[in-house]
Amino acid sequence: MCELCLKTECPPVCPNYILPKVNHYCSYCGDGIMEGEKYIVNEDNEYRHSDCYCNIEELLGWLGYEIKIMEDCITHEKYC
Ligand SMILES: [Zn+2]
Ligand SMILES: [Zn+2]
Repeated sequence: MCELCLKTECPPVCPNYILPKVNHYCSYCGDGIMEGEKYIVNEDNEYRHSDCYCNIEELLGWLGYEIKIMEDCITHEKYC
């Protein structure tokens, strides 16, 4: 038991409180990725919570996927 707050597990307000060990930080929100949380890693080895993105296009771009726009088939054929 902690001598200062008299609790078995110190709350964050107690000076003896130990910050949870974080190995990786989310590159989107800046918070640590805690044990048990879902996360994703991109090719640049950046980490993110799986729900940290503004929209799917932004997320795909971060993951290294290029969003393309399908060209008109007829115009395309001319160049083939
Ligand atoms: Zn304490
Ligand atoms: Zn995050």
